[in-house]
Amino acid sequence: MMCPKCGKEMRNGYLFSSKDGAFSFANEVPSALENAKNTEEFVKLTGLKVGGRTSVEACCCDACRTIMIQY
Ligand SMILES: [Zn+2]
Repeated sequence: MMCPKCGKEMRNGYLFSSKDGAFSFANEVPSALENAKNTEEFVKLTGLKVGGRTSVEACCCDACRTIMIQY
């Protein structure tokens, strides 16, 4: 998918929450026991918050820091 903001190719991956509730994006969702920061192409999106790990398919543009989510 091309980025609607800057027109560059976006990479596919998953938006997911970490064990401590931070929102992140990576090429695949790490297992609940794995440290999310070790996942390939990890991008930290938010700070810490208590909660579980939810995830959604998303596209990430590294150039203009845009995440697109489809439902
Ligand atoms: Zn972009």
